[in-house]
Amino acid sequence: MPAQIIDGKKISEEIKQEIKLQAEALYNETGVIPGLAFILVGDNPASQVYVKMKGKACEELGFYSITLKLPAETTENELIEKINAFNSDPKIHGILVQLPLPSHIDEQKILQAINPVKDVDGFHPINVGKLVIGLDTYPPCTPAGIQELLKRSGINPAGKHVVIVGRSNIVGKPIANILLQKKEWANATVTICHTGTKDISYFTKQADILIAAMGKPEFIKGDMIKPGAIVIDVGVNRVEDPSSEKGYKLVGDVHFESAYEVAGAITPVPGGVGPMTIAMLMKNTLKAALVQVKAKHFSN
Ligand code: NAP
Repeated sequence: MPAQIIDGKKISEEIKQEIKLQAEALYNETGVIPGLAFILVGDNPASQVYVKMKGKACEELGFYSITLKLPAETTENELIEKINAFNSDPKIHGILVQLPLPSHIDEQKILQAINPVKDVDGFHPINVGKLVIGLDTYPPCTPAGIQELLKRSGINPAGKHVVIVGRSNIVGKPIANILLQKKEWANATVTICHTGTKDISYFTKQADILIAAMGKPEFIKGDMIKPGAIVIDVGVNRVEDPSSEKGYKLVGDVHFESAYEVAGAITPVPGGVGPMTIAMLMKNTLKAALVQVKAKHFSN
């Protein structure tokens, strides 16, 4: 039987509507509008598209947002100065530096310049540490979106074997840490595969929930998946497609057609994890606004 499609677009729209109502309530109570600053360095076309989509989501939800576009030659110190300005701007509750940064800039140095309270991407080491030890934090948006997709699809990871292919700081490691917590909608047994893993199929075939986050177009084929498994495809890869107007199409890290015949449920690309990432960014920004309103209230 073909897989159930997990519709990330539909679920993300529901979440955004909930956030919009919560943001309206915050405004009615306090006069505060959640504010998000985007910093884009250089002219990476994919980054420009991502920032535009995130800005559009802010508009939809009535959030304040500002996009600072800086040239590729911007120095580390210049970038840190801009971050500091947003750190002390009371209209801004969240700061997002779009990755990747040009190679002359030390990414870690930049992420650590963001005030952890405004770190809505959840990449500051303080927030990463909180996530690992199970404290309340801003969970990184893509992994948080995956957990929410599972939750809203009624797929409980508890007691399941989750196999993640990819160990990046943005996706693989944080989703592993989220799903292994002794908490609701987590409590899974987690395996992480990477380029050092021998015989990836041996592991992927054991997955009750398989999460592909590799950046390798259509790498995971149907014969690498256990029948009935839940497949979450994080990959977003541009591949040539002469039949499309743009000359390319987007595919995931999973070969959809073969996986669809074997899996119990699967996320499509596009329309699966991608829209959830944006919804979770909005959720973290609202949370940041709430945290900062509360902190101000207690300091007065
Ligand atoms: P990344 O930083 O390049 O990390 C890729 C990971 O996959 C690495 O850990 C790498 O292993 C592993 N890997 C690559 N090829 C492999 C192979 N043949 N066998 C086993 N492991 C392999 O990528 P990322 O930032 O995590 O992103 C992964 C994908 O998700 C990309 O397509 C990206 O565009 C997409 N993405 C989507 C969203 C969204 O919102 N939908 C958000 C973020 C990322 P090593 O560590 O050993 O090198």
